[in-house]
Amino acid sequence: MTKRGKPDVRPKRPRPYSLPQLASIMRLILTRCELARAVEESLRKDTGRPRELQWSDLLLILAVHAARTRVEMHLVQVEETADELVELQLLSSAPERGVTYNEITDGVDKLSKAIQAGKVSTPHNHPRDDRCPKGCPSEVITEPMFASMLLTESLRPAVDETGCFRA
Ligand SMILES: [Zn+2]
Repeated sequence: MTKRGKPDVRPKRPRPYSLPQLASIMRLILTRCELARAVEESLRKDTGRPRELQWSDLLLILAVHAARTRVEMHLVQVEETADELVELQLLSSAPERGVTYNEITDGVDKLSKAIQAGKVSTPHNHPRDDRCPKGCPSEVITEPMFASMLLTESLRPAVDETGCFRA
């Protein structure tokens, strides 16, 4: 058999996802692994001005940017991704003026300090200010756990339900 007659069995390079597709995949992952809710509930302030950029949207910006670039995160470029997400109205909380570099750096800084201080935990099964009753499923989210929650959920085939993995 000649080489020429063989079908090309090399895997095709997947087409890159569009920004709306990536945003919908990442939103699904963040929701399913409950990270968005965990961070939102753990860091919610009941006093003072509410954050203009919700934690769940900051996580979405970071996740979309990471999935898109697959290289080191440069916060200036993260801001560009945020601007595109704002323009396409893919964030739920972004102020009209867009997302500033400071909001991103400040958010990342607060989030990583909160995780290091053990202040971010998985959702509780009771009102926030009550002491944890026996059997409360909440547990502190450590840095490795943060990463593994995201990864585990990303690998679940059910992400395909978004339809984004089909051409
Ligand atoms: Zn609890």
